[in-house]
Amino acid sequence: MEKISRTVIVEALKRRDFGAEVNIKGWVRTRRGNKNVNFIALNDGSTIHNIQIVVDLANFDEEMLKRITTGSCISVVGLLVESKGQGQAVEVQAQSIVVYGSADPESYPLQKKGHTLEFLRDIAHLRPRTNTFGAVFRMRHQMAMAIHTFFHERGFCYFHTPIITGSDCEGAGQMFQVTTMDLKNLKQTECGCIDYSEDFFGKSTNLTVSGQLEGELGAMALGAIYTFGPTFRAENSNTPRHLAEFWMVEPEVAFNEIEENMELAQDFIQYCIRWALEHCQDDLEFLAKMYDAELIERLKFVVENDFKRLTYTEGVEILKAAMANGKKFEYNVDWGTDLQSEHERYLVEDHFKRPVILTDYPKEIKSFYMKQNDDGKTVRAMDVLFPKIGEIIGGSQREEDLEKLQRRADEMGVPTKDIWWYLDTRRFGTAPHSGFGLGFERLMLFVTGMQNIRDVIPFPRTPRNAEF
Ligand code: ATP
Ligand code: MG
Repeated sequence: MEKISRTVIVEALKRRDFGAEVNIKGWVRTRRGNKNVNFIALNDGSTIHNIQIVVDLANFDEEMLKRITTGSCISVVGLLVESKGQGQAVEVQAQSIVVYGSADPESYPLQKKGHTLEFLRDIAHLRPRTNTFGAVFRMRHQMAMAIHTFFHERGFCYFHTPIITGSDCEGAGQMFQVTTMDLKNLKQTECGCIDYSEDFFGKSTNLTVSGQLEGELGAMALGAIYTFGPTFRAENSNTPRHLAEFWMVEPEVAFNEIEENMELAQDFIQYCIRWALEHCQDDLEFLAKMYDAELIERLKFVVENDFKRLTYTEGVEILKAAMANGKKFEYNVDWGTDLQSEHERYLVEDHFKRPVILTDYPKEIKSFYMKQNDDGKTVRAMDVLFPKIGEIIGGSQREEDLEKLQRRADEMGVPTKDIWWYLDTRRFGTAPHSGFGLGFERLMLFVTGMQNIRDVIPFPRTPRNAEF
């Protein structure tokens, strides 16, 4: 028999050349029917939709049919026909079936629909086979494509920054150590410190918390770069918005000042969300139906409306006025305090009812590398705040003046001896430049409408959890 090539289900469902012979492969979602004919809903991950396989029982071996249960994997050759049933335009009339792998109904955990997201986290190795996670992970791929396309179209260079770093100056949180030393048998120096000269790199090393410092080196040569890679933070914050391992997108642009940085951030997020609306319609409709009825409206709103820009100082005034009017927050707000997610969400969801970009934060609560304003009190930071999420982007114009940068680092106790190379950009041909970091999973939360960051990355790493 002539071997026919496989058709993915997303393509098969679009075809109308009824009578054509097709080969479909996938995993069985459900099987139902009567003693003459069975209907198998088959999914291969190419779309949220299943294709219906019609099986005339008389034509098939009974033992083989018994092995076709929920979760099993089969290959079907048959005729593409117009469906008489509701809910689909085409189906496949099976002529031959091969069972690649059965799935014992007693032990296969995904029997019926309606498992909780918490339960599915415990079987993260199988949850991509559910409608929800199929939709989320297809969208995750689409968002990655949107990001690369956005920057590529604008002439940015995809710049690969290291994952293992020898500096701990980023100051963005607790770091994971990287070592090949035998932890059960550590040599100590006279002062009782660990002797890292014996370690693989001859010095203490960590997993990076951000690619920014190296990204700036790229921008100061290539003009406009972006990074898109994993970052690691050993912060013990068990929140629905924090992971220990997450992906960050960090553009950095020479000659951009903070206004251009804000424009880039807005254009970038709107581009990604528009991409989702254009490329992920089926998955978005499913997620809206199951989890978040306002999802698509919310995405459209963000694409169509400018983000509100104001200073941290103005933001604090609004929050204090709200408190004076009886609004209760768990944490107090005063000029100089870092805003909590509840404050950020009040500004976005209640006050302005749109995304907000807050700028010019007190220097005490921001990193040493942010450009200092003339008031001596604030720096040119910018955080983009989103409904349901809070902070989605953190960025700034960078301090390009070597002396000011060094002084601020000293004041903040940042050990700059390890980043002499970073300071060199200010020594040799320094220039104004700006950039920001977008947490990829925070964007995923927004575009999917999921509530917990553990449900938008295939294998989440959080405190006390590194299974799979
Ligand atoms: P947060 O206050 O929410 O902890 P941050 O101020 O520590 O954020 P930055 O250091 O500015 O964040 O990092 C840039 C972006 O990376 C943030 O705007 C956010 O989108 C994302 N991000 C930061 N920490 C995490 C994390 N632990 N898990 C997932 N995303 C994160
Ligand atoms: Mg943080």
